[in-house]
Formats: sequence, structure tokens, C-alpha cells
Amino acid sequence: MKENQIFINYGAQARKMVKELLSEIKIEAELKKEYLIALKPNLINATKSQKGATTDPELVKGVIEYLKEKDFYNLIIMEGSWVGENTKNAFKHCGYKEVSQKYEVPLYDLQKDDYITKTYQNINIEIAATALHADYIINLPVFKGHSQTKITCALKNMKGCISNSEKRKFHRQGLHKPIAYLNKLITQDLIIVDGIYGDLDFEEGGSPVKMNRIMAAKDPVLIDSYVADLMGYSTSEVEYIDIADQIGVGKKDWKQAEIRELNQKQTVKIEHATGNIKKYASKIRAKDVCSACYGSLIHALKKIDERGKLEDIPTPIKIGQGFQEEEFKGLGIGNCCQGAEKYIQGCPPSAKNVTNFLLKNNKRDN
Ligand code: SF4
Repeated sequence: MKENQIFINYGAQARKMVKELLSEIKIEAELKKEYLIALKPNLINATKSQKGATTDPELVKGVIEYLKEKDFYNLIIMEGSWVGENTKNAFKHCGYKEVSQKYEVPLYDLQKDDYITKTYQNINIEIAATALHADYIINLPVFKGHSQTKITCALKNMKGCISNSEKRKFHRQGLHKPIAYLNKLITQDLIIVDGIYGDLDFEEGGSPVKMNRIMAAKDPVLIDSYVADLMGYSTSEVEYIDIADQIGVGKKDWKQAEIRELNQKQTVKIEHATGNIKKYASKIRAKDVCSACYGSLIHALKKIDERGKLEDIPTPIKIGQGFQEEEFKGLGIGNCCQGAEKYIQGCPPSAKNVTNFLLKNNKRDN
């Protein structure tokens, strides 16, 4: 797999989808049999992945099955939950204890590891020895919102590899610079993003958006920058992406990336909305919508709400394949809504483009 590639597979069956993705990118070509391969999910707390905070254990099962089928057996799962959670508890409640027993892959609690202090530009960071000793790290972040940094994905997920006292220090230092520097000191070799559910606002979950996709990349800056765009943010709004780009962790210009979609977006039944999503879902009329498209619209409405302009947007906003043959008044999202009075192109359009489209067609100025 090349540094500038992003692979995407749409659907909800994480185990099957990740095996398809791995066989497409053929990671075995870059592995040696004796490698210690560490899988690093996001188990920030002890909640099920459907809440939008943690990595779906089915995704991890798929990775393990694929690697074992290729005769790679030296595998571990490592994580250090956030300071308010006990990792052992998260392993149990998120389904990882069961994964470990079933596949005989040991769990490493990085809150209780030995730590090695590494330094970049005069900043010392205590990093778990287990993570530093791994020969190949597969980072399995969740793509979701974050109250302080706007988004969290590959770069920030590596924070699970530092000590609790270091995590507290990161917060005192404002998160952005230390997150970027940490990624200069520890390399993630492959990133597989869980974008099946991801929280709209908070890393701890509670307002999940179903986006039904997984993505693979090698460059954490590239994938984070791509995810930021999907969520309606520019990299200048997510400072750690810009810093990581500047110090050479990777390249943020995803528009230069080769993006390969393995399949078509799939329509989903929109589940009963929870948390903040309810407010935004009430503005939407969806018919056979693909989750990728729906996710873009929800993220766009959130951005507009943050600017205090939500009530200026004419509703209902129509979206989904069910509107393909219809002509209708008002606003439509995506190529399926070409029959709308006004629509934004894209299949799916990015949250950023949807945001600009909706703001341009507000009730006040039109
Ligand atoms: S434009 Fe239509 S087909 Fe394309 S992602 Fe949106 S709903 Fe799906």
C-alpha cells in the first residue's frame, strides 16, 4: 500500500469488510513472520461501539482472522483507556476479553505498562514500552467528534499509548502540539478507521452517527485530514493536523491522495436518533439514504448550529436515493436529489460542501 492511498469499504459488517480491505491492500507483503504485530483499538471507555466512542470488536476480529490465515500469529491487542476509565473494564465491556480468549491474542493494558521517555523538540513524552517494542502497529481508531480538538481519529488515538500522568500533561499543554509530537516518536504502520458509528461531538460517545464505512491508510496525517473534511472541518481548525504536517509526520493534502472505494455506498435505515442528533434529524427528510451522505448532512447541520444559523436553513432538507425520480421544491443533498429546486452535487458530498450550500441558501437571503 502506498503512502498517498486511502481505501474505503462501505457497509456495516466490519469483520467481512476489513478482510476485503486487507486482501485488497495485501499488508502481508510488508510483514515478516517474526514480527510482533500490535493492534491498537480505541477503547477510551467501557461502552459498546454502537454508542460512537469505541472500536467495533468485529473489526479487530476480522484483522486477526486475516493475519492468522496468512500465518501471522505473533499478535497482541494494546490499549490504555482515558484517565477516568480502567482499561481492564473497557476490555471486558467492549467485547475484547472475549476476542482475546477466542483468538488467543493477549490483551496489554497500557495504563500499567513500563514507560520509556522519548524526546522531540525538548518535549519529553512517556510512551508505553509495549507499543515501542512492537514491530508493526495497526491503529484502529474511531472517526468521531471531539469537544476540544473538533475531531479525533488516527493521530489522537495514539494517546492511548502513553501513561496516565502523560495524558494529564497533554491536556495541560493544550493537546495539539503534544499529539503531533507523539506521532513523531511512535510510528503507526497501518491505519484502519472504524467509521461505522462515530460520535458527533464527544470522544466518549452518546450521540452516534451511523456512517457505515471503514477506511485504510498508511499516513495518519492524510487520513485525519480527509476525515476532518468529511466532518466539515478544514485542517486549520484541527491544529494538530497542521502541526503534524509541518513536522513531517505525514502529508495533509488529501486532495492529492488516491482514493479507492471498494464498493458502492449502501442505503441504511436511519435509526431513532439520540442525543444532539435528534435536533438535526428533525430538519431532514430521508428516503433510502446512504449513511455516508446522511453523516455529511448531520455534520454540516452541526457546524451551522455552532455558528448559530441552524434556524435560517429552510426545511425539510431532502436526501436519499428515494428522491432520484422526484422533482420537488426546496433543498436536496447529493446527486440523487437533482430534481430539487436547489441541490448540492456529490455522491456523497462532503460535509464542508453541504455546509456552504446550506448557508448560501438560507431563508434570510433567499
Ligand atoms: S447521492 Fe445518493 S447514492 Fe450518492 S451517497 Fe447520497 S444517497 Fe447515496
